[in-house]
Amino acid sequence: MAYSHQSDGREPSASYAPAAALDTLKRYFGYSSFRPGQERMVSAILSGCDALGVMPTGAGKSICYQVPALMLPGLNLVVSPLVSLMADQVSALKAAGARPSYLNSTLTPAQQNTVLKRASEGWYQIMYVAPERLADPRFLAFARAAAGPGGIGIPLVAVDEAHCVSQWGQDFRPSYLEIASFVAALPQRPVLAAFTATATERVRADISTMLGLRAPQTVTTGFDRPNLYFEVQELGDKAKAAWVRDYVRSHAQESGIVYCATRKKVDELAQDLMHELAPLGVRVGHYHAGLSIEERRVNQEGFITDAIPVIVAKNAFGMGIDKPNVRYVIHLNAPESIEAYYQEAGRAGRDGDPAGCVLLWNGADFNLRRRLIDRDPGDVELDEGQREQAKRNRFRLLSQMEGYCRTTDCLRAYILRYFGEDERDREGASPAPAGARGCGNCSNCLTPFEADDVTEAARAIMRFVSRHPGRFGKALIADVLHGANTERIRSLRLDSDSEYGKLAELPIARVRDTVEQLIGSGYLTVSMGQYPVIGMGDLGLAALNSPEEFAFSIKRRKRGRAGSERARRAVDLLRDEAALDSKPRIGDDAELFERLRALRRELAEWRDVPPYIVCSDKTLRGLCRQRPATREELLEVSGIGERKADEFGEAFLKAISEFEDEHRG
Ligand code: ADP
Ligand code: ZN
Repeated sequence: MAYSHQSDGREPSASYAPAAALDTLKRYFGYSSFRPGQERMVSAILSGCDALGVMPTGAGKSICYQVPALMLPGLNLVVSPLVSLMADQVSALKAAGARPSYLNSTLTPAQQNTVLKRASEGWYQIMYVAPERLADPRFLAFARAAAGPGGIGIPLVAVDEAHCVSQWGQDFRPSYLEIASFVAALPQRPVLAAFTATATERVRADISTMLGLRAPQTVTTGFDRPNLYFEVQELGDKAKAAWVRDYVRSHAQESGIVYCATRKKVDELAQDLMHELAPLGVRVGHYHAGLSIEERRVNQEGFITDAIPVIVAKNAFGMGIDKPNVRYVIHLNAPESIEAYYQEAGRAGRDGDPAGCVLLWNGADFNLRRRLIDRDPGDVELDEGQREQAKRNRFRLLSQMEGYCRTTDCLRAYILRYFGEDERDREGASPAPAGARGCGNCSNCLTPFEADDVTEAARAIMRFVSRHPGRFGKALIADVLHGANTERIRSLRLDSDSEYGKLAELPIARVRDTVEQLIGSGYLTVSMGQYPVIGMGDLGLAALNSPEEFAFSIKRRKRGRAGSERARRAVDLLRDEAALDSKPRIGDDAELFERLRALRRELAEWRDVPPYIVCSDKTLRGLCRQRPATREELLEVSGIGERKADEFGEAFLKAISEFEDEHRG
């Protein structure tokens, strides 16, 4: 009766058995406990409640719907916009011993027929579909029959990337609006579970309303990714390229992504790096929409299979890739929003091991972005008002991105504040290391700063702005205060302003910094648009009204940056981990690791899947450390479930025992 439909409806709360959920997690995925948040999502879904999971990339969202889907009788639907990710998810589930499927435009009509036929026979436990599919009359007819009397049942509709339903976010997709009507059209309402990695308060509210969630159990695991090291560097264009060359050279054995804003930059930088790394025998790939499909496929596949460690790409690269062992993500240009940045940077370190996220930027990045937003005609599916709104949003999001680049406070705290999170109310939050300032794992927390009292300069700047509110941009303001002798200043007659040249004795960089930090602290405001102008903030007005109470200092980096090397190599991690166990070992773990890594590659090639589908680096390290000799011991290694033990267990056990034989005595 495994696939029978329960026509008597769901019995709330009765169906949730924690032990059964844990058993499913262990059997299919080889994990012995749920992560924070996963358990609450799983239990809500299994007891028939709608649920909303707000979890950062890498938190383990898929487990939250996959475990219930493997337990609930019937066909569980997963709506995902990432067509390229579906095949990958399906391979991973198959390798775990489940019966998954997907339905999207990459399948031929004949293949689609077969999938639907097998689905209606109750063969699949999970089906991934693109949102557009929900409006397809044929699919709707199939789903109505499945959810109706005598059908196989649709117990769950899980919506991935649920923020796409909101016009406040970055990736609004009108087809997401169909989800609510699709669900409403089913004869029996399934449980609805929505997942997103990028939701501010406003987007969260939208998800609930637009998807029609009913009293959802909301689980926010916190956006913090403690294993990610964040760094921001303001560099000129030449210095950026040199920086990337150095970094990539010193991480040549690791997997990393370098994002650039334009195709041209991608090509240039990739050339440059190829030149640099070829003598070391390291391949560099590149990826953008201007390449042929074949080139893109070769590059992407090389990256996934670890044959090409470094890829230089436009920002969309990685959308459909679930590669867990990306050790660094470098941005050569500032992205358009914190959401976009966190999503892209978040592709590093999904496996939970230390990884680095470095953003290189300069003012030109923002000028370029502002121009692009201004020129973009907008989504044709939106009406005039919606387009205007979308543009305003984009400018607002961009200015928050700029704030990230310029802040001298903890970068992690900035991101978490952006996502509306107080550092203390996170589930599973880890405290900062003792003695460290802030999070202890970002460039601002690790860089020594010195305070510089600029109260007088700040007053002069604010006096000037208060006389010309909303008229000038920040570069011009700094120039006037510094006393520049330019055509523009003369023609505006600003050279006769009483503040002209008031700050001539300060370096121009300091004047600009003061303007920036007055903006960053809310004393001054910036308008949106391609040519942003500066106005007075409430704090600034108050400061001018009671000058005696006002004091302002800015932070400056002390010379010499804290050397911070946070992206670690697999063998280093292995050594650290080995130092913690007392188990006597035969032969060097690192050597065994390389051997198992090669074996994994062979197993993967033979099955035609990426190596990480066979198992993660972390699981390989577990094998090296635990040295299982039997199937039971093998199942204790995190990441090895029943199916993987059946399929690959023998090969791994054999490799380990051979290795030990060679090194014994
Ligand atoms: P997300 O979809 O939120 O980005 P994934 O579902 O891809 O995250 O999970 C990220 C990584 O964490 C994967 O490698 C996954 O296998 C691993 N993972 C998820 N849940 C657990 C767990 N309970 N125990 C150990 N590892 C887990
Ligand atoms: Zn920090």
